[in-house]
This record gives sequence, structure tokens and C-alpha cells, in this order.
Amino acid sequence: MSKQILILPGDGIGPEIMAEAVKVLELANDKYSLGFELSHDVIGGAAIDKHGVPLADETLARARAADAVLLGAVGGPKWDTIERDIRPERGLLKIRAQLGLFGNLRPAILYPQLAEASSLKAEIVAGLDILIVRELTGGIYFGAPRGVRELENGERQAYDTLPYSETEIRRIARVGFDMARVRGKKLCSVDKANVLASSQLWREIVEQVAKDYPEVELSHMYVDNAAMQLVRAPKQFDVIVTDNLFGDILSDEASMLTGSIGMLPSASLDANNKGMYEPCHGSAPDIAGKGIANPLATILSVSMMLRYSFNLQDAADAIEKAVSLVLDQGLRTGDIWSAGCTKVGTQEMGDAVVAALRNL
Ligand code: NAD
Repeated sequence: MSKQILILPGDGIGPEIMAEAVKVLELANDKYSLGFELSHDVIGGAAIDKHGVPLADETLARARAADAVLLGAVGGPKWDTIERDIRPERGLLKIRAQLGLFGNLRPAILYPQLAEASSLKAEIVAGLDILIVRELTGGIYFGAPRGVRELENGERQAYDTLPYSETEIRRIARVGFDMARVRGKKLCSVDKANVLASSQLWREIVEQVAKDYPEVELSHMYVDNAAMQLVRAPKQFDVIVTDNLFGDILSDEASMLTGSIGMLPSASLDANNKGMYEPCHGSAPDIAGKGIANPLATILSVSMMLRYSFNLQDAADAIEKAVSLVLDQGLRTGDIWSAGCTKVGTQEMGDAVVAALRNL
């Protein structure tokens, strides 16, 4: 039976990088007879323009019916001034929540060819391979109540809520332990348990789950220290598990260790490993339409999709190998370029990966 993949390019550089990722996916589909059927739809600003909302019900239904979703990025200045509840980013939060995609995997891997592109010294980051497991459907981004109220003195006060249930913590902790078990067997749980009630429960539940994973070495770290350790000695980490807000910030920080956010894929999984795959970066309006965006994060998201949703390890390995070969050839988009390398655009980079994959 064929497997359905829904393609949602989104806004800004989304359609540009997605075009390259789809070329790679289609080649892998043919080359390895994967039996994928691709369909396309809109999300974010593009959906606002078409349907008046950032995620139409029919698109959500197609996403539910699909076996996996591949997404570009959403947002842009065109939609920054519209009502908050129907901004492009709301479409993204909604699809993650509605599909129950609570487990966000964000690897920060430094390709040895790009050690010079990192803002840290090569010896601190060379060989870096961290996996950040971020809780994606709970915490402060979804907590209620939230809003702006008026105080007695007439001043406005804004507030958000940071709730976490035992179930939410337990299931993301399990993802963290499961990942650590098949990697370096080290899990660092990041929280702010010295201040936040939600973090105190987080730590308690993570400790409980740890009993089922005696082979994994568990440590805890406050988020402020984790932010510091990530730039001081990042190779101390194997897998980090953390909440939605901390994970958002730490994974962007970790991405810079690798040279560019343009290199980093992500997976968001539900309890059955159905997933949505997307680059970690946004829609980069500053470079949209110029044909210079790095498509590798989206191409590597395809490889994560093959690995985690379809258990196609060989095809996933082949895509990653093709990316590595292209970097060996010295091809670089502007964000990862360094002296001595050949600067290429989005399409040339995609074509080079396709050629490398075809020849494998
Ligand atoms: P961004 O990730 O879009 O861009 C940050 C910087 O990185 C920019 O200088 C951009 O040019 C560069 N960059 C990003 N991706 C790149 C790539 N593939 N190749 C080369 N350079 C790349 O973040 P931002 O500027 O804070 O946000 C821009 C828009 O994207 C906003 O509307 C924001 O809400 C949205 N956004 C969407 C997502 C998502 O769809 N998952 C994530 C973050 C931000």
C-alpha cells in the first residue's frame, strides 16, 4: 500500500527549500522503490491568503490522513499585523497540537566539513552530535489563562501560564530515554526546578521514568546553566530533554554551534511515530525570493522522516551521505560559506544533492 506524504511549503523561503527537498524525496522514492505518494497544500501566510485562516480544516484533515507531513516554514512581515489568533505561526501551533506531535527531536550535528562555520573554536565543536528532545504541545505556549488584563491602577498587565501534567512529562521523558538508549546512553533533563513549580514536577516524573532505563545515565541541569554549558563545553551532552519554552531557546542556541540554522532538520512525533518534519529555521523573509537559502535542513528533514516514521534506515543514510559528499565537494550556500569554498544557490545545492544521491 502506498504511503501518503503531505507537503506544506509555507511562506518566505519555504517554497524554495521545499522544491529542493521534494526533488531529493522523489529521487529516493524511485531509487529505493519506497511507494510514497506526495500531495501538496498550504499553511501559514499562504493559507491566510487563500482561506482566511493559517490552517484550513481541510488541510488539517489531509494532514491527519497522511502518514507523514513535510513542512517548510511559515510567517513573514506581510502577516505580522493581522489579528494574533490567525497569524501564520498559529497554524503551526495548531497542526502540532491537533496531530498530537508532542515529541520534537532537534539534532545539532556538526558536519566536520563545516567546523570553520561555527562561531565557536573548532576544537570545542568538532564532532558535536547532540539531540535535543523538546516537549512541543504543552507548557507556556499553550497554557491558559493568558492575555492582558487591567490592574486597579489602570496599568495593563500581561500574563501567561506554564502548566505540565504528569502524563505530558512522562511521555516526553520516555522519548528522551528511548533516544538516549540507542545513542550515547546519557540523558540530561533541563529545567528550572529551583524556581518553577512545573519544573519541580518535571524533575520528579523524570526521576520516576529513569527507573525503567537503568542503562541510561540521567543528570539534571538548570536551564541557565545549560545555556552556558552549551557554549562552554557542548560535547558533554548526548541527549537533552526539556520543556517547550526552554527547548525552543536551547535548540536555537545549539544550532549556532553547528554553523548555521540552515543545516538543522527536526522531527515532531506523536505516540505512534507519525510525524511532521521541518527545518528548525523560520521563513527567512530577509532572503526570500533570492534563491540563496540553504535547502539542506529541509533535505535532512526528509532523511529524518524516512528514519523515524518509516524505519527506512538505508534510504535515510543515503540522503545524509549525499549531503556529506556535496559538502566534501566544497559547495556552500551563503550561510555556511567560508573562504576557499564554492558559493552556490538553493537550486544548485539541491541539484548537487540529487546528483550525489543518484550516483550512490
Ligand atoms: P529565521 O529562522 O527565519 O531567520 C533567522 C536568520 O537565519 C535570518 O537571517 C535568515 O536569513 C537566516 N536563515 C534562516 N533559514 C535560513 C536558510 N535556510 N538558509 C540561509 N539562511 C537562513 O527566523 P526569524 O527571522 O526570527 O523569523 C522570520 C519569520 O519566520 C517570522 O515570521 C517567524 O515568525 C517565522 N518563523 C517560523 C518558524 C517555523 O515556521 N517553524 C520558525 C521560526 C520563525
